Amino acid sequence: MARSCLFCRIARKEAPASIIYEDNEVMAFLDIRPVQEGHTLVIPKKHQKNIYAISEETVAYLFKIVKKIAWAVKQGVDAQGISIIQNNESAAGQVVFHFHVHIIPRSEKYEGHRSRQISETPQLEEVARKIRQFL
Ligand code: AMP
Ligand code: ZN
Repeated sequence: MARSCLFCRIARKEAPASIIYEDNEVMAFLDIRPVQEGHTLVIPKKHQKNIYAISEETVAYLFKIVKKIAWAVKQGVDAQGISIIQNNESAAGQVVFHFHVHIIPRSEKYEGHRSRQISETPQLEEVARKIRQFL
């Protein structure tokens, strides 16, 4: 399963992504269909399906990184707020079955319903560059 998993392929650099951060255990990259500019996903590099499957140690370490990246995202895109979201199982809206935490910048002026468009790579790379400055 891990072989064909999209986020495993991103973790192994077999699929492209605008990477914000990585170490041996964790990777953070921009969501290709951002709710708002700077929408970032944080994943464990080793395949874990969801919150039930992931170990306490891994999730504790991953959230340490989430905290660091949330602050960088806030500054990088000048967000007024940040939402942290993590979906488990289809009923909760999980679409990619490799554990991931959403870091979503929020601003008063962008609230409301907007359709989520796919962002082009150069645009994502520019946003990633702005966020990485604050790590
Ligand atoms: P979830 O609904 O919690 O499973 O979220 C999956 C997220 O992965 C969605 O926000 C998608 O936009 C995002 N996504 C899907 N494919 C890619 C990709 N190739 N690169 C970056 N993000 C992706
Ligand atoms: Zn995976």
